[in-house]
Amino acid sequence: MRTPLRVLIGISLAITTLTAQAPKRLVDDATLRNARQSGEDWLTYGHDPGETRFSPLSQIDAANVNRLGLAWSMDLNSGGGNQEATPLVRNGVIYAITNWSVVIAVDARTGKEKWRWDPEVNQDAVFPKICCGVVHRGLAMYGNLVIAPIIDGRLQALDMDSGKVVWEARVAYPQDNYTMTMAPRIAKGKVIVGVSGAEYPVRGFFSAFDAATGHFAWKFYTVPGDPSKPFENAAMKKASTTWDADAWKLGGGGSVWDGMAYDPDADLIYVGTGNAGPWPEDLRHGKNEKNGKDNLYACSVLAVRPDTGELKWYFQMVPGDSWDYDSVQQLLLADVTVKGKPRKVLMQANKNGFYYVLDRVTGQFISGQPFSQLNWARGLNEETGRPIVNQAAHYGSEGSVALTPGPGGAHNWSPMSFNPATGLVYIPTSAFSSLDYLLDENFVYKPGKSNLGVIMPGRPTADAGDARAAEAAKKPVTKLTPPPSIGPEPPPPGQRGILVAWDPVTQKEKWRATGGGSIGGGTSTTAGNLVFQVVPDGRFVAYRADNGERLFEVKTDLRGGMGPPITYMVDGKQYVTLMGGTGKVRAREGYPPGPSNAAPPKMMTFVLDGKMPIPVSAPVSAP
Ligand code: CA
Repeated sequence: MRTPLRVLIGISLAITTLTAQAPKRLVDDATLRNARQSGEDWLTYGHDPGETRFSPLSQIDAANVNRLGLAWSMDLNSGGGNQEATPLVRNGVIYAITNWSVVIAVDARTGKEKWRWDPEVNQDAVFPKICCGVVHRGLAMYGNLVIAPIIDGRLQALDMDSGKVVWEARVAYPQDNYTMTMAPRIAKGKVIVGVSGAEYPVRGFFSAFDAATGHFAWKFYTVPGDPSKPFENAAMKKASTTWDADAWKLGGGGSVWDGMAYDPDADLIYVGTGNAGPWPEDLRHGKNEKNGKDNLYACSVLAVRPDTGELKWYFQMVPGDSWDYDSVQQLLLADVTVKGKPRKVLMQANKNGFYYVLDRVTGQFISGQPFSQLNWARGLNEETGRPIVNQAAHYGSEGSVALTPGPGGAHNWSPMSFNPATGLVYIPTSAFSSLDYLLDENFVYKPGKSNLGVIMPGRPTADAGDARAAEAAKKPVTKLTPPPSIGPEPPPPGQRGILVAWDPVTQKEKWRATGGGSIGGGTSTTAGNLVFQVVPDGRFVAYRADNGERLFEVKTDLRGGMGPPITYMVDGKQYVTLMGGTGKVRAREGYPPGPSNAAPPKMMTFVLDGKMPIPVSAPVSAP
């Protein structure tokens, strides 16, 4: 029996329609929880709720990675700062955020732009409130929404298909010196996001909103406020005993600008907090009071319930911080065997040079060792993990002390990654970060401005716009003897950045390679026994994950402002995508001008046997 033609056409049309409208997979709690299983998408900032940046994909592997080539490249926008963001991928579409909170959706196969949303930030009004660059670290996805942090303190949820705003919430105001640069995260249907700006007078916090509606759920301050007002919660009451009575008037700090992770089984969100402000502890206590207060919960990891924001445990890496040792670096969750026992751990390669391994259910300190040279402390207390700070690190105004690491940190926001097959963590490390710290004895609080409270001898960058501090930095200063350094052997002079493959169980380096560190780039790792690394100077490199053999390298010509690499699979092909280039960087009062050879920002995607030549661009000049 013959099938009538029109039935055949009907069937064929139905199939075509089905193909064209491939069943759209929405992002829900289960999808996120299982994010590590298929590797097809990149659903959340750190790839999965444990933020491992490990992909189970192995189409690109140690044997064929040298065949990687450019599939496509696309222009992001005119720029304005580094590309620090991790793009997300779902249903074959890449979602990314670039300078001034511009969000784009791009076809992963072709690089063709699907939509673009510019929230039209009032750049002139907001720019002076941005402490640390017109940058973004990423987006969140939930349901059919892409959730974008706008640098001026708004949170916007955009329809994944059209880019239209579905809801908007207000997290913070730039008038209060807050900016928003971190990637929001999702836990139990809530979107959680914190604020940047602890170099300005701010009281750090993070907030939760209903991811479907944008309705405010809860807010957790990381440092106490005005003690004449009621405490927000028991945690704040406790914290208030670790600060001097008037410290809150200077802001306090404790901003939340990068590290966050979620363990659905433990029912905990983990949040890293920034430095106390102003930087020197001397400036945070009254005339008749002494140093030695811990200043909770600055420079800490906090574990809170996603439903309520209730604090379950905390671990403070740097009590009484004086060195800008933000503890917001990536929080990475893994299950490892320590001394024969399976442990659910939370790990961090802290700015301060120590690699921390904590029990993520209880907050108990397991171990901590220097992964880079440091001299501010002699080590960590083996039981408690509290640093044994060198007396000379408590700097004053009588002379400068060269301390390692400096405010840039031994590891900053550049993402590390953990490969369960090798058991190694791949950390972009700054080997020679240091600063001559000198207390600004004539410090005057400046409302609404940068309040570092240190003089940086020979540098123009202390407290931008403070002419008196800039003059003081030009004067000759006595250099005091720095304390002795501890930690792994430094690389030869000239190799400032290194990629360190760290064994978190033995707390020892397994291998190292040249390049990395500072701010920019980062790593991801795969079941193909690979580590992908983007180096801040614009190179994209691949290493064998187990032994560090360099297998592939390409110069992108983006020349700086690099973001980390992601990998995913569309239509059976594994891709690697990265962003970089700064474009025109606006000059900031008191700071040197932006880079002179800046490249226009681009997104680039690599694939096996990709044949497109690397585009070469003329430098763009600062406006
Ligand atoms: Ca800081």
